[in-house]
Amino acid sequence: MSGRLRMAGLLPVLKNTLAYNCLEPLKQKPARPRSLCLYVTYRCNMRCRICGIWRKEPLQPSEELTSEELLRLLADPLFANLEFININGGEPNLRTDLPDIMHGLIRQFPSLKRLSLNTNGLPPDRVVKNVDLTSRLCELAGIHFSASVSVHGLGAEFDKIAGIEDAFPRVKTTLAGLKEVQRLHPFFLSANCVICSLNLDQLDALRAWGHAEGIPVNFALGEVRPRFLNEAMAADILIPQDGRKKVVRFLRTLALAKKEYLQHAFRYASLAEMLEFEKKRTMACHYALGGVVLGSRGELFYCKNSLSIGNARKNSALDIYYDTHNLKFRQEEIIGKTCGTCPPYSFNQIEIEKEIFRVLAYLLFSS
Ligand code: SF4
Repeated sequence: MSGRLRMAGLLPVLKNTLAYNCLEPLKQKPARPRSLCLYVTYRCNMRCRICGIWRKEPLQPSEELTSEELLRLLADPLFANLEFININGGEPNLRTDLPDIMHGLIRQFPSLKRLSLNTNGLPPDRVVKNVDLTSRLCELAGIHFSASVSVHGLGAEFDKIAGIEDAFPRVKTTLAGLKEVQRLHPFFLSANCVICSLNLDQLDALRAWGHAEGIPVNFALGEVRPRFLNEAMAADILIPQDGRKKVVRFLRTLALAKKEYLQHAFRYASLAEMLEFEKKRTMACHYALGGVVLGSRGELFYCKNSLSIGNARKNSALDIYYDTHNLKFRQEEIIGKTCGTCPPYSFNQIEIEKEIFRVLAYLLFSS
């Protein structure tokens, strides 16, 4: 790539860095979202001990937005600036019309830069088929596609956390299939491990497994959130006092592996600080910078920790998002109270744009 082309790609990033650090903080209202997380279903085929979304059942597929309805709601002006879409659930692949949703999103959002899918990997055939199709579509449209498969443990330990028999061998089948797809249609494949009290003794092994398989593992801290309906599972999720040192040590090891984890090394360092010293979060969050979540029944949320702020089936998403009462809730309850204790689980482009100088300083100078 020539220097001029590289510069042309860098300019919008620097423009956003300037906006997020100098201009946006002066504004009364958030900008229209650049990122959207879609909970396409709350149905799930696992019975995880760290997430109770599956308890939301019985939820009939008929209660969910149809693919046509979903795309119609996304024609609202609130979503006009979308560049990043994450498909999440429940288990998204339980929706038999997931290919229609993926196809529709790619057609409807020509400015889309990234499409990502979070999945538990089951059922293997369907996950592989959907990823194969989506990676082809994204390749044709010039969109970066990534798929992240939940792997919170190895072997029988994973089955215990997933709450179903033979989860691990089946997820391994899925991963093998996805790697085949990857060879034909490149996409980013990773595993997602939620650190919780049930897998503290497996963290090093999980990291080594990721290396051996050639699948990067993203580590996040387990959280008790209303959305996960997992308050009663807190003992299985939250790191007990006597396990904290172990997790902090593990996170600091990751934080020092800068060449391997790049910006995530900075994130792991931040997580270690939060856990060890109960420090407030200082890392940027793409939701706080302007993101939105749309639930499978049309509910809108400012972020994964937000209460529902309205239903896009009933009112315009733009009106809901910029409703004065809702903005007050966002500012006072979310930004003012919740963000400080919210552990960063990702480091996406929007967050990098905001944090670029801190990340560079960390990568170059900290030891
Ligand atoms: S509560 Fe967490 S997810 Fe929500 S805006 Fe704050 S940091 Fe982001």
